[in-house]
Amino acid sequence: MTLQFLGATEQVTGSKYLLETDGFRILVDCGFDMEVRNQEEFQHPFNFNPKTLDAVLLTHAHIDHSGLIPLLVKEGFTGTVYCTYATYQLSRILLFDAARINLRRSRKKKTPNFYGPREAQESLDYFRPIGFEQPYSLSDSLSFYFRQAGHLLGAAHIVVQAEEKTIVFSGDIGRPAYPLLPDPEPIPAADFIVSETTYGMRVHEDKNAEKVIGDTIRKSCVEIPGRLIIPSFSIGRTQTLLFLLNKLRVAGKLPPIKIFTDSPLAQKSTQVYQDFVDFMNKEAQEFNSRHGSLFDFDNLIYISDMNSAEEIDRYNEPCIIITSSGMVKGGKSEDHIMRNLENSYCTILFIGYCAEGTLGRRLLDGMATFRQFGEEYKVNARILSTDVLSGHSDYNDLLNFFKTQNKHRLKKVFLVHGDKEAMENFKGSLEHNGFDNVVIPKLGQRFELAEETSLNFRA
Ligand SMILES: [Zn+2]
Repeated sequence: MTLQFLGATEQVTGSKYLLETDGFRILVDCGFDMEVRNQEEFQHPFNFNPKTLDAVLLTHAHIDHSGLIPLLVKEGFTGTVYCTYATYQLSRILLFDAARINLRRSRKKKTPNFYGPREAQESLDYFRPIGFEQPYSLSDSLSFYFRQAGHLLGAAHIVVQAEEKTIVFSGDIGRPAYPLLPDPEPIPAADFIVSETTYGMRVHEDKNAEKVIGDTIRKSCVEIPGRLIIPSFSIGRTQTLLFLLNKLRVAGKLPPIKIFTDSPLAQKSTQVYQDFVDFMNKEAQEFNSRHGSLFDFDNLIYISDMNSAEEIDRYNEPCIIITSSGMVKGGKSEDHIMRNLENSYCTILFIGYCAEGTLGRRLLDGMATFRQFGEEYKVNARILSTDVLSGHSDYNDLLNFFKTQNKHRLKKVFLVHGDKEAMENFKGSLEHNGFDNVVIPKLGQRFELAEETSLNFRA
C-alpha cells in the first residue's frame, strides 16, 4: 500500500493524495492549485494518468479540494467520486462557477482552458453521495466512511480502512462553536494521519465574531459614511457572514443600509445551506425555527448581473458589499476592489486566508500603490482583516485533533495544506507532545505505508 502526495505539499491549495492498495488507485481530493510555481505545473496539473484511477474520495466542496474533478473526467477518469450529500449539492454549484472563471481567465490571459460548463456538468454524473458515518466497501479489505469535520456544510474527515490499517485524511478541520456548523467530530485511533496545517502556528483571535463584524460595520458605514467591501468565499464563509448579519439585525445592531451580495453563486449556495438546516448546529436550528429563515432579511440584495461592480459603484449611500473570491483572485471581488482602492471612504475587510500571489495577500502585506491603465494610484482604502470567521482549526484545535490517538499505534503523521513555516512549527509541537514520526512530504513523494519508508519523489 502506498500513499503519494500530489498537491498541497508545503503549501495550502491543490489537495491531491493518491492511495494505492489492493489493486485500487484512489485519489483523495482533486483540488485546484492556486499557488503553481511554473507554467509546466500550471499546464499539466496531473502527474498521473486519470484513466488509471478507480475512485475519488472528496472531503468537501471548496475549489482547492474539488476544482480539478471536471478536468479529471475530461482526461479520461471513469470511476466514482464519493462525497457527502451536502458536498454534492455544493459541488454542483461550485464547479460551474469554476468553469466560468476558467473560461474568462483563459480568454483574458491566454492560459489553458481546463474545462467549461459542459465538462463540469458531465463530471457530476460520476458523483455518488453517501451519508456521514456510513461505511462503504470498495473491496473485502478496503472501505471508508465520512466523519463530520465542521469546516463547511458537508465537510468530512475521511477514515479509510485498508489492509487492516486505518488511514485518516483530515480534510479541512473546522472549529468548535462555529456559527451554523456542528463541531468537528473526534477521529478514531489511526495508523496513519494526513493532516492539514493551515493554522499550524497561529491561535485565532479570542473575540466574539458577531461583535467584530458589528463594530466594523459601525466604524466603516456609520462613523465614516462609506462602503465596506468584504471579499468572501461564496460557499460557506458568505453564509456564516449573512447569518451573523441576521443575528445583528434581530438584536437591533444592524444599521438600515443596503447589503449587496454580489456573487453569481452566493444565492444558490445560500439556498443549499437553508435546505440542509437539519445538519446544522443547535443554535442555527433554533434560530431558523424562531425566525423562519437563517439568511433572509430586509436590505439584503442578491446580485447576479455581470456589470454589477459598475452599478454598485454608482450607488453613493453607505453600504456593505459581500463579494467573491475571498482571496481576490478572479471573481468579482477583484472588480469591486480595483474600483475602490483609491476611495478613502472605502474599507476592505478580509475575513479569510489569502494565498501567496493573490491581490488579497498583497493588500494585507501593505501594498501602497497600484497601476491601472498605465497610471499609478495610491491605495487609500482602509485594509482590515480578522480571522474570527475562519473556518479552520487553529493551532490549539489542531493539537486537539490528535488527542484521540494512540502514540504507539500511530506510525506516521503527514503534514499538508499549510505554509512551510506553519508546518515546521506544528511538526515541532507534535514532536514535543510525543508524536515522533511526523513528516512534511515533498511534491510527488511516495510512501510505502506497510514499510513506512519513502520510496522516491520528484523534485
Ligand atoms: Zn476548505
